[in-house]
Amino acid sequence: MAKGNISVNSENIFPVIKKWLYSDKDIFLREIVSNACDAITKLKKLAGIGEAEIGDEKFRIDITVDKDNKKLIIKDNGIGMTKDEVEKYITDIAFSGATDFLSKYKDEVDKNTQIIGHFGLGFYSAFMPSDRVEIRTLSYKDGEKAVHWSCDGGMEYDIEECYKADRGTEIILTIAEDSKEFLEEYTVRSVLNKYCSFLPVEIYLQIAGKEEEKDKDGNAALPKPINDINPLWMKAPKDCTDDEYKKFYTKVFEDFNEPLFWIHLNVDFPFNLKGILYFPKINHEFAANEGRIKLFNNQVFVADNVKEVIPEFLMLLKGVIDCPDLPLNVSRSFLQNDGYVKKISAHITKKVADKLKELFNKQREDYNRYWDDINVFIKYGCMRDDKFYEKVKDFIIYKDLDGKYITLSDYLDGKENKDVYYVSDENRQSQYINMFREQGLDAVLLPTMMDTHFISFIEAKEEGVKFKRIDSSVSENLEDGAKVDDEFRKNLVETFKNELGNDTIKIEVQPLKKTETPAVILLSEESRRMQEMYRSYGQQFAGMSDMFKDEFTLVLNSNNPLIKKVDGLDEEDKKMVCEHIYDLAMLCHRPLSPEQMTKFIERSNKIIEKAI
Ligand code: ADP
Repeated sequence: MAKGNISVNSENIFPVIKKWLYSDKDIFLREIVSNACDAITKLKKLAGIGEAEIGDEKFRIDITVDKDNKKLIIKDNGIGMTKDEVEKYITDIAFSGATDFLSKYKDEVDKNTQIIGHFGLGFYSAFMPSDRVEIRTLSYKDGEKAVHWSCDGGMEYDIEECYKADRGTEIILTIAEDSKEFLEEYTVRSVLNKYCSFLPVEIYLQIAGKEEEKDKDGNAALPKPINDINPLWMKAPKDCTDDEYKKFYTKVFEDFNEPLFWIHLNVDFPFNLKGILYFPKINHEFAANEGRIKLFNNQVFVADNVKEVIPEFLMLLKGVIDCPDLPLNVSRSFLQNDGYVKKISAHITKKVADKLKELFNKQREDYNRYWDDINVFIKYGCMRDDKFYEKVKDFIIYKDLDGKYITLSDYLDGKENKDVYYVSDENRQSQYINMFREQGLDAVLLPTMMDTHFISFIEAKEEGVKFKRIDSSVSENLEDGAKVDDEFRKNLVETFKNELGNDTIKIEVQPLKKTETPAVILLSEESRRMQEMYRSYGQQFAGMSDMFKDEFTLVLNSNNPLIKKVDGLDEEDKKMVCEHIYDLAMLCHRPLSPEQMTKFIERSNKIIEKAI
């Protein structure tokens, strides 16, 4: 037996690595299993060029959990290593990799222990959960002897020849007391499911001492691999059926709602990128945050939602992205500045825009149907990424009062100005909607929180376009243009101010076409936006929001019979009618306060009594 010393300068790096990596300990299994997978891929390649003999054997990785003996064993029938290779790759290179890692990232890691999970530490991560790590390996090369390497996590290791019948490598971990969970089937299985579900080599999990499964006839059931070695994203898009895409979605995201549509990414040049992005059905605005993009490196799961690679707004989608060339063993700050990563991100954005364009142009009905679900992320994307906006701006659609989907230019077509009337709450604003409809005017629905921001965004982007909420002003089209008598106007305003007991209220008299409506409340678009802004900043601006409280205008309709009669009523009725007209107009604008509501109901009862 030979003893060797690991030639690194630092004292003992293992305790340090162990401590640092503690939070994401389970990645060791990903590292060891993907090494096993690489070893098999390498052997296949060599066989492909006639450098190795493999016959018709089946390639596989076997993982055994042996709780009684505290062992976790990862075995492959890949390329194997010679004694020299073990010394070179395991002892020298991998160790120096680990020391490099320490010296480079020490400061960074101290600042943020979270980033550590995204460093692969290769083979040496095996020490994280282990008291001892052993390798038993036999190279594919003719005439080589098997070797056994063993290290307790100190600076010393043993290496000796050993007996091993079959080619390949076995990594034997003696699991430490503080990592006992890796001797539980449940833990090992879930870690494998997380990282290795799509590895390209079949992986079998065995539990030492557990009876083998029987089928219904009592025969030993055929063991099933835990992974799918041909994930859908690796197939050519033309060979995939809708059904396969849907099944894959359900399986990977455990979402039983069907996705709306998807994009299959498949690029070979100038970089390698494969993946499927799904547009999920979103039931309400905030559910949108639940998206999940899984990043893979050669079918090995790396992380969820790596925002450096996937544009942030696409995080609302669900999907898988496989970037084999991505330098995933480096820090996130590196990823942020990497030109390659930027290209990938830009490419994904472009593909999404292309897909939207295609749907808009070729499947407009479907596109309309999807809009309620996808608009949130398209709008968000536009606001986050100018390039995306430029690509999709012509495919942004708005639902109009008839439920039709139109573009901004459809709406503005034939109009003199670029005012866009919109409804934020169909129920509350129904009176205004009716007035609009009766005059053959159109407005668009913009009901979400996101829309309030999106409106300002579009106004900044599209010169002259001005969004006005349907209750913000009386469009010229709603008036009939008749002249209102000055005397009548003056008296009416006076009467309302008196009866409402409010001297500062703004009152206008206008001849509205819709004669049945006695009055409407209008709040200028600017004031309302101000109010909303202050309200959304919360308590500290409570006073500010009061400043704008009475900015609205009460518009009295000089064409309405009731309004025409108000001044002739006796004192008691006059007060009642004025207050009631005001409350009714207010009700269509915003909820009444509890006191206002109580008064409104009392007064309504009185009016009924009078009528009877
Ligand atoms: P990396 O995989 O990034 O090269 P690792 O530290 O994980 O770094 O592994 C170091 C080297 O050890 C590998 O490059 C490979 O040559 C060798 N190795 C590790 N595991 C195996 C294995 N199961 N079979 C054959 N060689 C292996």
